[in-house]
Amino acid sequence: MIEVLNLSKRYGSTVAVDDLSFTVRPGQVTGFLGPNGAGKSTTMRMMLDLDRPTSGQVLVDGTPYRRLSEPLRRVGALLEARAVHPGRSAYHHLLWLAQSNRIPKARVWEVLELVGLTSVAKKRVRGFSLGMGQRLGIAAALLGDPPVLLFDEPVNGLDPEGVLWIRHLMKGLAARGRTVFVSSHLMSEMALTAAHLIVIGRGRLLADTTVDDFVATH
Ligand code: ADP
Ligand code: ADP
Repeated sequence: MIEVLNLSKRYGSTVAVDDLSFTVRPGQVTGFLGPNGAGKSTTMRMMLDLDRPTSGQVLVDGTPYRRLSEPLRRVGALLEARAVHPGRSAYHHLLWLAQSNRIPKARVWEVLELVGLTSVAKKRVRGFSLGMGQRLGIAAALLGDPPVLLFDEPVNGLDPEGVLWIRHLMKGLAARGRTVFVSSHLMSEMALTAAHLIVIGRGRLLADTTVDDFVATH
């Protein structure tokens, strides 16, 4: 479970996130809906401790994120800009991540299999399509078998098959008891993926509800 408590972020005079509080629970997909510029990415970066809040905090199972012993094992992330060395193969990228996070090497082939990249595992990432890059990002997020997974606009720019695959994956992870949090600026996407919905606009909480209730009342 992940708790966002009175989180705020200012960049100079811009208030990107404004006193935001919500809880993301395991066992279901929680959607994070808001127009471009609403503060979704900023919130997710703070949830992953990649960016410091101006005020407020984020707890993962009751513990502040920065005090978790091995963050990658607990929270996986698919953020938009994920650095992968283009000259490396998918296998070597994941192996490097596994070694730097003390994750058993055998897990690398497991996640390659899970995301369907086994046959291109030894090819250079430079030649990967956007969809293959997304799959690699997800493989990296799954590497430490984290109980919490964050996906920032994961279907953006994907082909229809990739979109269906990611939706299926997120639901499968939730069904396995993981906490899954996914952002989108499209209600149609949320309706197909999420059960619970957090809606923000201009950094503020607008709704914290079920997708069914949100659809029925909007
Ligand atoms: P979303 O992910 O919902 O599209 P963002 O979190 O990217 O929204 O942005 C929220 C607001 O914060 C926007 O007004 C954006 O311009 C601003 N912002 C985000 N990151 C920075 C930054 N590093 N410096 C200054 N302003 C930023
Ligand atoms: P199916 O097995 O028909 O694909 P599931 O609901 O069992 O349906 O799984 C949904 C998705 O969850 C799978 O397609 C896979 O991508 C992902 N998944 C399956 N097993 C695991 C696992 N052990 N760890 C992470 N993700 C998994």
